[in-house]
Amino acid sequence: MHIVHIASELAPLAKVGGLADVVLGLCRELSWKGHDVDIIIPKYDCLDSSQIRDLAIHTQDLMSFYNGEWFHNTIWVGWVENLKVYFIEPHHPRNFFNRACFYGCDDDIERYIYFSRLALEFLYKKAISPDIIHLHDWQTAAIAPLYYEMYNQIGYNKPKIVFSIHNIEYQGKCGVQDLEKIGLVGHDYLTADKMQDNLNPKSINLAKGAIVYADFVTTVSPNYAKEILTPEFGFGMESTLLLYQNKFLGIINGIDYSYWNPEIDRYLPVHYSSREFPLNKKDRNTLEKKAFVKNFLREKLCMTENYSPIVGCIARLVPQKGIELIKHAMQFVIKNGGQFVLLGSSPIPSIQEDFMHLKNQLADHSGVHFALHHQEELAHLIFAGSDMFIVPSLFEPCGLTQMIALKYGSIPIVRRTGGLADTVFDIDNETDGNGYVFEEPTTEAVEKTLKRAFECWFKDQEKWRNLMIHGMGIDFSWNKPSDEYLDLYKKLITKENDQNNKTISIV
Ligand code: ADP
Repeated sequence: MHIVHIASELAPLAKVGGLADVVLGLCRELSWKGHDVDIIIPKYDCLDSSQIRDLAIHTQDLMSFYNGEWFHNTIWVGWVENLKVYFIEPHHPRNFFNRACFYGCDDDIERYIYFSRLALEFLYKKAISPDIIHLHDWQTAAIAPLYYEMYNQIGYNKPKIVFSIHNIEYQGKCGVQDLEKIGLVGHDYLTADKMQDNLNPKSINLAKGAIVYADFVTTVSPNYAKEILTPEFGFGMESTLLLYQNKFLGIINGIDYSYWNPEIDRYLPVHYSSREFPLNKKDRNTLEKKAFVKNFLREKLCMTENYSPIVGCIARLVPQKGIELIKHAMQFVIKNGGQFVLLGSSPIPSIQEDFMHLKNQLADHSGVHFALHHQEELAHLIFAGSDMFIVPSLFEPCGLTQMIALKYGSIPIVRRTGGLADTVFDIDNETDGNGYVFEEPTTEAVEKTLKRAFECWFKDQEKWRNLMIHGMGIDFSWNKPSDEYLDLYKKLITKENDQNNKTISIV
C-alpha cells in the first residue's frame, strides 16, 4: 500500500508535542510492515537538519496558487530515520516558514492553508497518487475539501483521505476570505453542512471541513473518541462528530520503542532493563542501573543526593495540562520528602513568566528543578531518572508521557481522562494496576494520590519494584495500533474497489 502522511510536525527534527512522535512512530511501523510511506512537512528554517540524510532538491519550480497569484516553491527530498520526507519551501514574500519557530505566528492560518494547497498541488503535478492521504490536525485539514471539491474535478481522484484529530481544542477557525485565498469559493462553504463553525456562524472551521469531507476520521484514543462526542470535551465539534459517527474511530497512539527504550536509549549514560537478558547486554537483570541514572540526573541538575523519590513532569505548559495541579504537586512533593523535576515550556507568555517567577523563587531549593525550554536529551534523562511521573491533565487526547514513563520504570500518577484512562489503571483499585489514578482535577485528589504513591515507595520497596517491572513489560508499541490503521486503510480501498466493480457490472 502507498500512504502519504501530510503534517506540520515530525520527530525528531520538527517537534512541538506528541503529534511529531506520532507521525514518526506510525510511519516507521507502517514502513517496517512493508508499506510505501512518504511524509510531507514544511521546510521550517528551524528544522534540526542534522537529522536529515541526503537532502536534495526534488522539484525546483513548482508553482502554487495563493490569493489570486501563482508563487514559486522548491520541494526538497531527504531521509529521516529511513523514511522519505518531502520538505516544502515556499518562495512567497511572506516567508511563511522562515520564522524561527513552528507555531505561534499571527498568520498561522495563512501559513498552513498555503502549505495545504501546495502539498496537494505537488502530489497532483508529480502524479504521486497514493492509496491513502493521511492528514493530521487543523494545519492540514484544508486538504480534504480541496481534494474533493477541486482536485477531484480535474481527475486527481485515486487516494482516500484519512483525517486524524490529535487535539480537538485546536480547530483552525478562519474567515471565508481564507478559503478564497486557496482557490475555493469561500461563501459556498459557510453552511452548517460544510465548513461553518458550530459556535460562530460567521467563521469557517478547517477541522470541521476535514471531518465532513474525509473518507474516515480518527482520534488518538478510544476514550477520547467517546469524550469528544459530548459538549464538555468537544469544543463545539460534538454535533459534527455525532453526525459522522459512522466514519469515526479512536485508535490509541503507540510508542516508538526504538527511540524510547531504556535498553538502547541514545541519551542515557547507562542502559537498564527489567528483563533478565536485555537487548544489548549479556548481564543479568540491570534494573539497578536506573539508580545510577537517577543520581546522574541529580548531579546534572544540581540536586541533592538523598533517599527520596523523584517525581518527574514533562509537558507543554498550557491550561489543558492542569497547570495549577502541577504547581500543587510540586509543593506537596517537596514538603513530603520527595524531589520534583519539571521540563516544560509554554506558548502562552503569561504562563511562561509565571513559571519563570516560580523557578526564581525556588532557586535555592536543592530538591526542585524547573527547566523551562524544549530539551530532548533532558526529557530522556527525566523519564529514566524519576521514580514517579505526574500527568494531572484536565483533558488529554491520548498522552504519550505516561506510556513512555512506564517503559522507563517511572510510575505514572494521572488523572482519569482521555487516553490516560485507556492506559493507566490504579494499583489499589484494579487487578492489573500499573500506576495511580485520580478522578477529580482538584488539589485534594492530587495530594491524596501522591500520598498513596509515597507510602508505597517509602514503606514497600518490593511492591514498588514489582510495579516498575510490570509497567516496563507492558506493550504500548505501534504494532497493534498500526494494524488498526492498516485495517482501516484497507477497508477504505476495498470499499472503493467494490463500488467500481459494481459500476462495471452494471455497465
Ligand atoms: P502533547 O501532544 O499534548 O504535547 P503528549 O504527551 O502527547 O502531549 O506528547 C508530548 C511529547 O512532547 C512527549 O514526547 C514529551 O516528552 C515531549 N515534550 C513535551 N515538552 C517537552 C520539553 N519541554 N522538552 C522535551 N520534550 C518535551
